[in-house]
Amino acid sequence: MRLGILGGGQLARMLALAAHPHGVTCTVLDPSADPCAGAVADVIRGEYDDLQALYRLARASDVVTYEFENVPVASARWLAERVPVFPAPAALEVSQDRVVEKTFFAKLGIPTPPFADVSSRDDFDAALRGIGLPAVLKTRRFGYDGKGQAVLRTPEDAEQAWARLGGRPLILEGFVAFDRELSLIAVRSAHGECRCYPLVENEHRDGMLHRSLAPAADTGEELFGRACDFAERILAELDYVGVLAVEWFQDGPRLIANEMAPRVHNSGHWTIEGAACSQFENHIRAVCGLPLGATRTRGHSAMFNLIGRRPDFDKILLSSGTHLHWYGKEPKPRRKVGHVTVAAETLEERDWIVEELLARHDFAIR
Ligand code: AMP
Repeated sequence: MRLGILGGGQLARMLALAAHPHGVTCTVLDPSADPCAGAVADVIRGEYDDLQALYRLARASDVVTYEFENVPVASARWLAERVPVFPAPAALEVSQDRVVEKTFFAKLGIPTPPFADVSSRDDFDAALRGIGLPAVLKTRRFGYDGKGQAVLRTPEDAEQAWARLGGRPLILEGFVAFDRELSLIAVRSAHGECRCYPLVENEHRDGMLHRSLAPAADTGEELFGRACDFAERILAELDYVGVLAVEWFQDGPRLIANEMAPRVHNSGHWTIEGAACSQFENHIRAVCGLPLGATRTRGHSAMFNLIGRRPDFDKILLSSGTHLHWYGKEPKPRRKVGHVTVAAETLEERDWIVEELLARHDFAIR
């Protein structure tokens, strides 16, 4: 089977690595000269709206998927007229625009922070009156890793944020004083079967994911069941095929949806070593029409992102139970260049290895 992937970054690379043992070969479409998935997949170089490049991808693929949500919806639809595209392009439409996404969650009965569409200064003033401070102003589209957003605590912050972001389509959200951030990775097969990995606890620094702990401590059956129920509503509504990530704020017993990603997700990288079947393998299985693999954990895991610089590999690998994933990318400030997973049988052992690892290597964002 031949899988086409829109985007040739590390997610495509890990998808291609998971595809290989299933006899699935991958071709990625990417605008850059040397995409990191190129080490393990064929590459078509082109922009995501270049019809000739899309045509070549359709010719080279039995099925197409994507590794990031900012692929033009028109390109995904154009491809879908020629070759099956999973998840269906409607999932892109929802996740590309924060107002559409939160409206979609609300329609499905999934709690969100209070939010308002901000298209003008008048809208902004009305939204500030309605939602109050503190609040978060974000661009509706193309925001990631904390880009295109500002936390507003005072009226002065609001003025400064408006000066920086005003003029673009925006959303104002109530600031959630959450206890912690969680994510749920779910997968739905072509036959409609859903499976969820356990809830993961995520720590962001500077707007970027720094660390994930899996399974998250003290979530309990009730919280997990609710997160799965919410994810399954999304999957069913979109007749979704593939892996979906939903990011949550936990406030006491409440789960509040922040956003979804219609793809494999950074907070699911631990599944390569820490789950019976990884998110990458399950995405491959789903989009290729194969049965899903088990989402149960193998002990306890922690994942740390490597951002901005190349670490000393020896220092990381000296701890037993650590697994290094280097993406083969040139380090640049705030660029994700790899990750490290600690996988252990028990929580105590995992925490002990993490402590030892942190004493040897500083995972600070550069
Ligand atoms: P996002 O790009 O929407 O995922 O936001 C990046 C990070 O900003 C999140 O992981 C949170 O740590 C923080 N954040 C975003 N929205 C809110 C909110 N409404 N209330 C509190 N923190 C937020």
